[in-house]
Amino acid sequence: MEALNRLINILKKFPGIGKKSARRIAYYLLRQEGDYLSEIGTLIAGLKNNLCTCGHCGNISESNPCSICSDPLRDRKTLCIVDDAESLAALEESGLYSGLYHILGRVSPLGGEDLSDETAEFLLRHIHELEADEVIIATNPKLEGDMAYYTLLDVLKNAGVENVTRLAYGLPVGGSIEFADRATLSTAIASRTKVM
Ligand SMILES: [Zn+2]
Repeated sequence: MEALNRLINILKKFPGIGKKSARRIAYYLLRQEGDYLSEIGTLIAGLKNNLCTCGHCGNISESNPCSICSDPLRDRKTLCIVDDAESLAALEESGLYSGLYHILGRVSPLGGEDLSDETAEFLLRHIHELEADEVIIATNPKLEGDMAYYTLLDVLKNAGVENVTRLAYGLPVGGSIEFADRATLSTAIASRTKVM
């Protein structure tokens, strides 16, 4: 069963999916009706259609500016810096934050990907454009994340940005916003601390 084996090989590369889970999913799909499989196929094939990157926050969106950046009901003076779109989605789903976001992208000093000048400029432009009253650093609390945090802090300091806070974490090192429960996120946001 060539196609099934190929599918298992693809599935086991998914985040959090090992070989056994990949096999279970593949056999589950095999038991479904054709319409269901076609629908999944079409969804996957069209996943990146009509998507763009928001020119203000870096979020993946169907419009530029994205629906968050263009929402007049949000608090436009508070900007929350997150690692990636998954962190943004988790915070949005919690319903605990009503300000705007900025997606930093992958900054990993250990992996040789330092905060590039381009990334820093994109962020500072966003902060100045909003004339933000508060910038919240919400990068994930892992060792590399912490190094990225200090690099980020330097960039903000050198640019004269004031009132920078950081999420307080009840999370273990290596934990991430993406997997935090609502109570943990709520505490992290409510007890954020001023770092600059
Ligand atoms: Zn945006």
